[in-house]
Amino acid sequence: EALLLAELRNCRRPLIKWFYTPMALPFAREVKADCTVYDCMDELANFEMAPAALVDLEKELLKEADLVFTGGHSLYEAKARLHPRVRAFPSSVDVDHFLQARGPITEPADQADLAGPRLGYVGVIDERLDLDLLKKVAAARPDWTFVMVGPVVKIDPATLPTAANIHYLGGKSYQELPAYLSGWDVALMPFAINAATKFISPTKTPEYLAAGRPVVSTPVTDVVRQYGSLEGVGIASTSDEFVSACEQMLKLDRSSRAPWRSEVELALSQMSWANVVREMSELVHSVLRAKGLSDLYFDYVVVGAGFAGSVMAERLAADLDKKVLVLDRRPHIAGNAYDHLDDAGIMVHKYGPHIFHTNSQDIVDYLSRFTSWRPYEHRVLASVDGKQVPVPINRTTLNALYNVRLESDDQAEAFLRDVAEPVADIRSSEDVVVSQVGRKLYEKLFRGYTRKQWGLDPSQLDKSVTARIPTRTNDDDRYFTDKFQAMPAEGYTKMFEKILSHENITVALGVDYRIARDFVSFGHLVYTGPIDEFFDHCYGKLPYRSLTFKHETLPTEFAQAVGTVNYPDEAVPHTRVTEFKHLTGQNAPSTSIMYEYPSAEGDPFYPIPRAENASLYKRYEALALGAPNVTFVGRLATYRYYNMDQVVGQALATYRRHVAKLSEAVPGRVTAVEHSTAGG
Ligand code: FAD
Ligand code: UDP
Repeated sequence: EALLLAELRNCRRPLIKWFYTPMALPFAREVKADCTVYDCMDELANFEMAPAALVDLEKELLKEADLVFTGGHSLYEAKARLHPRVRAFPSSVDVDHFLQARGPITEPADQADLAGPRLGYVGVIDERLDLDLLKKVAAARPDWTFVMVGPVVKIDPATLPTAANIHYLGGKSYQELPAYLSGWDVALMPFAINAATKFISPTKTPEYLAAGRPVVSTPVTDVVRQYGSLEGVGIASTSDEFVSACEQMLKLDRSSRAPWRSEVELALSQMSWANVVREMSELVHSVLRAKGLSDLYFDYVVVGAGFAGSVMAERLAADLDKKVLVLDRRPHIAGNAYDHLDDAGIMVHKYGPHIFHTNSQDIVDYLSRFTSWRPYEHRVLASVDGKQVPVPINRTTLNALYNVRLESDDQAEAFLRDVAEPVADIRSSEDVVVSQVGRKLYEKLFRGYTRKQWGLDPSQLDKSVTARIPTRTNDDDRYFTDKFQAMPAEGYTKMFEKILSHENITVALGVDYRIARDFVSFGHLVYTGPIDEFFDHCYGKLPYRSLTFKHETLPTEFAQAVGTVNYPDEAVPHTRVTEFKHLTGQNAPSTSIMYEYPSAEGDPFYPIPRAENASLYKRYEALALGAPNVTFVGRLATYRYYNMDQVVGQALATYRRHVAKLSEAVPGRVTAVEHSTAGG
């Protein structure tokens, strides 16, 4: 506590005090804040066992607060006359989380065997529930099962009604709730109507609805007001009314196209936590601005701390002397190249193996200002027919898979000519490979891998994808042949720390631009996130391929012969396994490996090169070109399957063009000496 207070007193940025209860006031009184928010979630003074001091402390807090937020409309009405700036923020809902209850989901073991129909409640079980009502309804319908999920608080568990058809399953985590809800026919809110519930605005109402369950509630004011007119929400006071409301809900059509469902969708579509955050941020910043405290102006805001964003930020800060804010929604810098020591002390790459290779000396020179290098040439073996053979295909691969003894480039070339199948017009990823090495090697090494990696057959993918992998007639078994192949000596993250260390750069991590945009002001934006997201997917989603990574540490010095082993077999779920010690040169008694499992959902990692995606991207690009004061750069923002060096080259070139444009706009104003870089 003392440390926290000391830290807060030294805080130079605007300090916001945010109270969920007046009871925190004595603790926080001595910290002077620039903005005080009283976020009032309930009329706590009406609760059983409420402390006597609460009422006076609330008065004091209302005096100090710049803003008062209330958890619902009734509470708003109660507080509005007590303070000049009160805003109601009724509960929103994490729709995506609760939607899971509508899909296939495994039912928890403690619920799976309970007979149907099931009527359930989720939430704290305390004096606010009408336990007598529950008892009567359960007694009236012994053929229904009542499932009560939640911790018993403040009341004696012995006072809970017991019956063969009432099951108390205890508290569950937020993560588990959709699985419970999925097994219910009706969701219940049997609240007692008394002082403690007069002002409640239960978050579970929209959560139940998002989970696709009809709801029966007692007449809680805010529920009646906000949801009472929906066909999927029944309001009932007495036990008889409650039973018949439940009967009615049980009769509702369960298909996804039922009218009551569309009505619910419409109500939910207007709710989002992101909007709540945005509106609250706006209010807080209006208070700060009124006090002359809003120092959140930057010449440039850069979205994304990966290669594209960090290089742009460095150039703008160091070369153009601009004040730059770099935001990343992840909790770290370096984008997909992020590396760190795992629990075993082994340096691993969180988002898949990253090997630096380039033919551009300019790009090497630029990055060498921020790191020294450890030479490393990557090697990959593919696991095929019980053997491990080099990829890209070389003479060794041919000898191993065809059981031949080709000894020279000429022999291998002649052999390939023999097995290759000429393709007149090479368009797809299948054409490229089949025309070079024939169908047998294509099927063994490329077809399965590509189908897994992209979720598409190679015939549906642009030729550029598999064209990344050359075919060789010699026995060079390196994955890349670029002039420069090396790893940052202390890792990528350390290199990014240096790139971003300029005094003009502020880095804010764990911050999503979609939220920050409403309270940070800037002259120009550099955006390196997915371009379709920037435009709110207005033309539909651009497909990006994702991956799930499984990291493992093994108690052995080395697990495989080379950095990466590929598994082209479609029956194996992962595409490749990487052992990081090969890449980093680290010595350690144990070793860490990583499996890659491709997926359609998740972080956007790969743009998917195919014609229809390119044309959708073009539409977004047209919007980007028309967006004033925004520069789009990087793999996600320009929808290009670029390697790290290409992204660095693209960022440096984009920066140069930006500077050129600035000097066009205001002749003589830009004095920056252009750094001599070329690239991608
Ligand atoms: P990213 O690194 O993706 O950075 C974009 C950043 O923007 C992200 O950190 C993201 O969190 C942030 N962001 C997005 N939207 C928002 C928002 N709304 N608010 C805040 N932040 C946001 N390249 C090589 O050269 N060699 C390799 O061996 C190699 N291996 C790879 C292996 C895998 C599995 C993958 C996925 C890629 C690999 N790459 C490799 C490619 C390399 O990762 C990219 O070229 C490079 O990281 C792209 O940099 P970027 O800055 O464009 O994008
Ligand atoms: N590929 C394949 N088999 C392999 C290696 C690669 O089919 O053993 C194909 C696959 O479609 C892959 C593409 O070639 O996505 C490019 O491979 P690369 O290693 O360059 O992919 P990245 O490192 O970008 O994931």
